[in-house]
Amino acid sequence: MTFDAERKMQFLFALRSKGVTDARVLGAMEKIDRGAFVRGIFAERAYEDMPLPIACGQTISQPSVVALMTQALNVQPRDKVLEIGTGSGYQAAVLSHLARRVYTVDRHRRLVREAGQLFEQMGLTNVTAFPADGSRGLPEQAPFDRILVTAAAEDPPGPLLAELRVGGIMVLPVGQSDAVQRLIKVTRHEDGFEYEELRPVRFVPLLEGMARD
Ligand code: SAH
Repeated sequence: MTFDAERKMQFLFALRSKGVTDARVLGAMEKIDRGAFVRGIFAERAYEDMPLPIACGQTISQPSVVALMTQALNVQPRDKVLEIGTGSGYQAAVLSHLARRVYTVDRHRRLVREAGQLFEQMGLTNVTAFPADGSRGLPEQAPFDRILVTAAAEDPPGPLLAELRVGGIMVLPVGQSDAVQRLIKVTRHEDGFEYEELRPVRFVPLLEGMARD
């Protein structure tokens, strides 16, 4: 399957029909071929608006959820962005088109290695994947203008709130892993954090510590 003109049109149409209106987000998603991030028998479904299995028992998120989260993050061209949960690398690749610099971390080394190879093949030089437990953030590169978490925690992790710059935005799913979670947007102001609830979502849980592979 190739991301040809007709498939692109259908892909973007599906995003618009789910409420994605930001032209920069749509532009970034038109440039990144989701098919490159899905392997094996599921590759042929890469352009459908559904989550799909990837290595290490994880999932690549549904394109409309990637788009709506990216839109809510309101990334600016000068921003330094942290993503927790590299997975396939698709979300980070989309962010790399919108931000100055993207750091993405995953607790599975294999996912980090494979995503890093894809970024290199695609010539995405402003995105770096690290193996790390993202619930602690990435102190070496903090603070961040934007933080996107693509695994669900029960509450926003304290270290991530601390690594958000004043004026910065974090978007993350919160709630128990076996129940419906809520996507929330946290904005850091001089005098504290503002929380806004966006929509119900379903993500894999944010787990502590590194995985074995
Ligand atoms: N953003 C990905 C999808 C993420 S799936 C994409 O575009 O494909 C969620 C990912 O979060 C999984 O790969 C899982 O390994 C990772 N994860 C879960 N807990 C984590 C933690 N504490 N630190 C880093 N990554 C974590």
